[in-house]
Amino acid sequence: MTADAGHSCAQDLRGLAMRDGVDIVISTQPPLVRGPYTTDSFVCPHGVEYWIELIGEQIVQWMKDGVP
Ligand SMILES: [Zn+2]
Repeated sequence: MTADAGHSCAQDLRGLAMRDGVDIVISTQPPLVRGPYTTDSFVCPHGVEYWIELIGEQIVQWMKDGVP
């Protein structure tokens, strides 16, 4: 199953995050390396499993802002 399986949950999720000022990457593949910002997977109402990862620039911005 792919992220484009007839619905737009990945885009919707990303839109929600962007609204909060957070830039993320949403993948249907688990990350190769689990980093400190790697989250657990999220299963949308359509049964598609997503992994949400912050992009590097977002983490840099938080470091600048002093967010742990
Ligand atoms: Zn969905």
